[in-house]
Amino acid sequence: MYDKNNVFAKILRGEIPNKTVYSDDNVLAFYDVAPRARVHVLVIPRGEYTDIFDFTKNAPADVQLAFWNGVRNTVEKLGLRDNFRTVANTGRGAGQSVMHFHIHIMSDERFSEDF
Ligand code: AMP
Repeated sequence: MYDKNNVFAKILRGEIPNKTVYSDDNVLAFYDVAPRARVHVLVIPRGEYTDIFDFTKNAPADVQLAFWNGVRNTVEKLGLRDNFRTVANTGRGAGQSVMHFHIHIMSDERFSEDF
């Protein structure tokens, strides 16, 4: 069940500050407070969805489309067209610590050496 007191809900309500990268009616993108890459940004829908399962099952199609458009707009704004990763940790077991659906966008020069 969605907890309205999670940290991203507080960011969306303006109760906690954030460094916004991109914002529109459906999406907010902001810098991760504890970056684990040269560029580390989180993209979240404004609606109340706990994780990728909840979002893809319960968000209306137009909201899902708007979210992915927001992800792309964020990537374009960051200038990362061909050098970024997306991660969606899902569930405590996988390290999800904030139960509001979010996509990590991470970019680091070293990525090209990892694979
Ligand atoms: P996850 O572990 O996938 O749930 O990711 C949650 C992310 O939120 C972590 O990378 C945290 O560093 C980040 N985070 C937690 N609180 C804040 C905050 N107030 N502003 C920005 N990022 C945050």
